[in-house]
Amino acid sequence: MEMFESDGGRKTFFAEVLLPVPVPRLFTYRIPLNLNDKTRIGQRAIVQFGDRKIVTGLIFNIHEQAPKDFEAKYILELLDDFPAVNELQLKLFQWIADYYMCTLGEVMNAALPAGLKLSSESMVQIHPAFSLEETTHHFSEKEVMLLQRLAAGTMTYTEISKFLGVKFIFSILKSLSSKEAIILFEEVKEKFKPKTEKRIRLSAAFNNSKSLEEMFQSLASKPRQEAVLLRYLQDVPVLHDSHANKNGISRKSLLEGDISESSVNTLIRNGILEEFETVVPRFGFENSREANNIKLSDEQQRAHQEIIKSFDSQTTTLLHGVTGSGKTEIYISLIRKALESDTQVLYLLPEIALTTQIVQRLKKIFGASMGVYHSRFSDNERVEVWNGILSGKFKFVVGVRSSIFLPFDNLGLIIIDEEHDASYKQQEPAPRYHARDVAMILAKLHHAKVLLGSATPSVETYFQAKQNKYALVKIEKRFGEANLPEILLADTARKRKMKTLKGEFSRALLLHIEGALSRKEQVIIFQNRRGYSPMMSCEDCGWVPKCVNCAVSLTYHQYRHSLVCHYCGYREAVPHQCPVCTSTRVKTVGYGTEKLEEELNVFFPDAQIQRMDLDTTRSKNGYDSILGKFENGETDILVGTQMVTKGLDFDRVSLVGVFNADRMMHFPDFRSHERAYQLITQVSGRAGRRDRKGQVVIQTSNPSHPVLNFILQNDFETFFETEIADRRKHDYPPFTRLIEITVKHTDKKICQEASRHLGSSLREQLSRVKVLGPGEPMISKIRNLYLMSILLKMVRGKSDLIQVKGNIQNNIDALLKEQSFRNVRIIVDVDPV
Ligand SMILES: [Zn+2]
Ligand SMILES: [Zn+2]
Repeated sequence: MEMFESDGGRKTFFAEVLLPVPVPRLFTYRIPLNLNDKTRIGQRAIVQFGDRKIVTGLIFNIHEQAPKDFEAKYILELLDDFPAVNELQLKLFQWIADYYMCTLGEVMNAALPAGLKLSSESMVQIHPAFSLEETTHHFSEKEVMLLQRLAAGTMTYTEISKFLGVKFIFSILKSLSSKEAIILFEEVKEKFKPKTEKRIRLSAAFNNSKSLEEMFQSLASKPRQEAVLLRYLQDVPVLHDSHANKNGISRKSLLEGDISESSVNTLIRNGILEEFETVVPRFGFENSREANNIKLSDEQQRAHQEIIKSFDSQTTTLLHGVTGSGKTEIYISLIRKALESDTQVLYLLPEIALTTQIVQRLKKIFGASMGVYHSRFSDNERVEVWNGILSGKFKFVVGVRSSIFLPFDNLGLIIIDEEHDASYKQQEPAPRYHARDVAMILAKLHHAKVLLGSATPSVETYFQAKQNKYALVKIEKRFGEANLPEILLADTARKRKMKTLKGEFSRALLLHIEGALSRKEQVIIFQNRRGYSPMMSCEDCGWVPKCVNCAVSLTYHQYRHSLVCHYCGYREAVPHQCPVCTSTRVKTVGYGTEKLEEELNVFFPDAQIQRMDLDTTRSKNGYDSILGKFENGETDILVGTQMVTKGLDFDRVSLVGVFNADRMMHFPDFRSHERAYQLITQVSGRAGRRDRKGQVVIQTSNPSHPVLNFILQNDFETFFETEIADRRKHDYPPFTRLIEITVKHTDKKICQEASRHLGSSLREQLSRVKVLGPGEPMISKIRNLYLMSILLKMVRGKSDLIQVKGNIQNNIDALLKEQSFRNVRIIVDVDPV
């Protein structure tokens, strides 16, 4: 009875919990009395979902209202003492779910790294850097038992539960994880493999001046070993700082210069030096803060001042600076200023542009206070960044689009570099958000400033700047003495007629390549199509091999000698004869990066040629290794897809060749001219830096095309005026908002019927919205699903967006309730890119 009395007067609370499931609602759980005082909004809670599953949820709300029609289950455990997600983030999640028409669960899934979403499907492994002998933490008996067992291999949640004979093991896992003894992850394939490094240090016995002196005397007749030790002491001041020896020096840097490797090995054998391995961060380098003496040029200084001034009256500023104008230095200066006033900074970069090059540069300036958030990182590394922001360790994060989800609580500045880049938009799965646009909302929540940067701003952004919604700052000169590259057009249609094309290369381009190579300069060749040939075709009847799962032709890959579908990965052997007319003349048509690489090898047999596209960069380090070789000058010519257009600054590149400009400009999409302008200008910007003027050769069969002319004249302003007039005339963004609805089904007829139903009901109900379609999209079948699409155009300010979205959702829900359409999949993409 006593128990009840002591609980007397205590209230029963309920929590609305957000679960990582695609169900459009929160779930009510009961808070156990003993957790009443500890439960807060934003904490992670372990709950049971369904009969068996155990998942991590986020506490979204706390109240006293018991649910009416069911009995709420208890929260099993809290994973955090302090909220892992703050209320600003929860507001942002809600905004994303509403705006992009998806569920909060889908947003949570995208936002939280898997390691923060412990569930009964989680896997557990021992932390590679952990050693039971060396740890200073205290462990319970059960914890030690588990750690010893985990040393033998990964275990699942259920296995651990059985092994320990405990039903709910979350508190044990939570404790071990906080002591960095274990790692939790979702799937075996994500297993965390840290990068390790061999290091060398002086054996502890010699870590004092007396024994050190004696040892040097004993080595008097061995000058090469002596040199090793002197070199070591030069870098590691063991006598001044006894801790310095503990970390030693990396084997690699000890061996730099004239140091003999065999002498190092002898010293290790004789117990004077010792070798050990240590885990290094993904972007692994010594944490040396370099004196930062970035000096802004007059032009940069002026832009910098203008940006700071613009922030007095505007939230958002667009920095429009030509390629090579040194925007990064301006960013660095602004970041430093924001950090000095004790606010956090987020620096967003497109996926591909976030290279080791830029990270290393920033790390040298901002040191350990900077976190890097990258999708190529393991989940564990992402959890480290998340926790680093919570603990205050990271005040500045450079990252890709998903870093908008990180737990910032005091942002002062968000920089969105290459703001025009389409990879800021997430296509699959939901939420289909645009990181640039979400970052604007994030900034509003924090009262932070936003700086958008680009040499080729998107039409939408530039329009806002022209309307004075954003401030506009320009840099029209390149940094230093450098001039913008000289651009030449090579008319391939004429040359084809005159037969002066060699393979796919014009004479002009070949001559320029030859010249660059003879001057020991580097060349970039851009062709936005991977593989050898985009298709094969029978020369007698015109038959083209197609994918069995998708409505696309197969791309020929020579290195695999097979035909591959770029949409689903389907692969088949190259046919020896045409299945329709039995002709053996089945030939490749067109060309991709592989074919250009092959031709270059024929024309320039002595040149080192590398290819950079999806096929050569699939491995984790493929990308960095190709770039590394190019940076060292080991590669003379780099052939690649749009991967070569971004974020690379190499001083020795003097020539860029652009292939297939025509295809970019004639792609049937209202953004194709904008894309072509951006891609060609960006890749051209790789040519010529510092004191050298670069050259660009664009191969085209349509040299009088206006877009090419704007590029040639570097006339962004007129290009923009032409584009915006076109957008206005045809009701495209920024004058309208678009929502694209895609209907998918394995049966073509059902797909068509469902889309017709949806189309006509939307047309009926949304009188002020233009409903286009349904129509077959350009690729009408992918992975055995037929596709139909409906496009909604809303004139800005003329229709209530919230109401329209509600209406769309109701129509979709109604459609899916009909028996015949139950298995139809419907995807809504707000602001498609
Ligand atoms: Zn044929
Ligand atoms: Zn396919």
